[in-house]
Amino acid sequence: MNVLNFIDGVFVDAIDEQTISNINPATGQIIGTLARSKGLDVESAVEAALNAQQDWSALSMLERADWLDRIADGLEARKEELAQRESRDTGKPLALARRVDAQRSIDNFRFFADFARKREPEVFEMTDATNVVHRNPIGTVGLITPWNLPLYLLSWKVAPALLMGNTIVAKPSELTPLTANLLCEVTSEIGLPSGVLNIVHGYGPEVGQAILEHPDIRAISFTGGTETGRHVAATAAPMFKKLSLELGGKNATIILDDADIDMAVEGAVRAGFTNGGQVCLCGSRILVHTSIADEFTSRLVEAVEAMVCGAPENESTQIGALISQDHMHKVESYIQLGIEEGGTILTGGTREMTGQVGPTSEGAFLRPTVIDGLDHNSRTSTEEIFGPVVTIHRFEYDEEAIEIANSTEYGLAGSVWSGDTNRAHEIAQRIETGIIWVNTWLHRDLRTPFGGVKNSGVGREGGAWSLGFFSEPLNVCIKHD
Ligand code: NAD
Repeated sequence: MNVLNFIDGVFVDAIDEQTISNINPATGQIIGTLARSKGLDVESAVEAALNAQQDWSALSMLERADWLDRIADGLEARKEELAQRESRDTGKPLALARRVDAQRSIDNFRFFADFARKREPEVFEMTDATNVVHRNPIGTVGLITPWNLPLYLLSWKVAPALLMGNTIVAKPSELTPLTANLLCEVTSEIGLPSGVLNIVHGYGPEVGQAILEHPDIRAISFTGGTETGRHVAATAAPMFKKLSLELGGKNATIILDDADIDMAVEGAVRAGFTNGGQVCLCGSRILVHTSIADEFTSRLVEAVEAMVCGAPENESTQIGALISQDHMHKVESYIQLGIEEGGTILTGGTREMTGQVGPTSEGAFLRPTVIDGLDHNSRTSTEEIFGPVVTIHRFEYDEEAIEIANSTEYGLAGSVWSGDTNRAHEIAQRIETGIIWVNTWLHRDLRTPFGGVKNSGVGREGGAWSLGFFSEPLNVCIKHD
């Protein structure tokens, strides 16, 4: 499949007709191309978005909510294809792509449509005046997204941005263009007005940079790595663009001495290895109380070794390929570093996929890996690996667990496992993070704030936070007679 840009309602080549190969990381095969766009392509997308702005913002929010539902219907009708494309682009298990990526992409549109319908007016009464807060569109906004949950994360921005009356210039990851293209196909089929949604494909420093620098793009919503986020902020902040940054994480899974071990093992495996550990929320540091550490660790290793790793299309596969050979080499270099830093590999660390059909030597497959014995301040334990690797750390006191959990530059997510939810809640409140679960992981209510502290980002997405970001509040204060 040759993926083109979608500008002003039309699929077009990059202006200089350059392309990038799109590789399926599970096979190493080239499965198509995508447009390698540059500044001129972005210029043309911005022009289309600006032209569409007035008519789009003139619709009521409820009319735009209806458009979101139509997009959701269109995606739903092609849900299986959506999951297939996501799995081919990322190497993730097809079953996971169906359950998580495809479902959540549809849900994001439905959620924001419903949220708009239930929204209460923002009115603040004074004794002698009434304040009415209007949420005006920002204008044309730039959305830049990563490869790990391609349409899930893109739609999480597209839906609220459209709802609030903005027009969009978006750049998906160059590694995963297929489902952004499906979204364009759907919007084209349902007749979303031309220019409202524009997608420009290509490399970050070429297309992404042009979006960041464009003076008519007034807000940037970025999800990706912390280093890229730093560059995004440095470029956009001097232009006083609104900025939302959703960045990396190195999240702690804290297992207290009174935790239900079965539940904790199941939770730690899910938190550590969902999507091959390539979720920003993954619990890559497991902190376990010394009194249960040995039992927990041996049960964890047993559960990890039982995971089905291999061909994404195999229905029972739990861990598919990593996103690319380059990324696999990066993850392997961290495993090597873990050994050099004094860690012991309890399981994994290798590429072989025993007993599974499918993976070839060209595929980016790595076995889920558990490392024990590392100092919690080691590089392996504090830097984001973003792969199927967890480290185990022991603690004696709750205070110590809190200190270890807070000892990274990141602060995105985490979980606490305990038989005493009050105790877990107390601890949860003291973790420097944006979101933390008690006795569960990745259990999301889309109305709640999502985002990080420290080097995990700036701002929040979700429900009212997304509507707030994608709008400019205008307060009208009316003096009573
Ligand atoms: P990345 O930072 O390499 O790329 C993200 C996006 O930015 C891509 O579309 C890329 O092309 C673009 N980009 C790269 N350089 C750019 C530049 N100079 N200007 C503008 N855009 C540029 O991240 P990635 O490898 O695609 O994704 C993995 C990272 O994303 C991990 O660190 C992960 O934790 C993070 N992530 C965070 C969240 C969250 O919600 N906090 C969610 C998913 C992933």
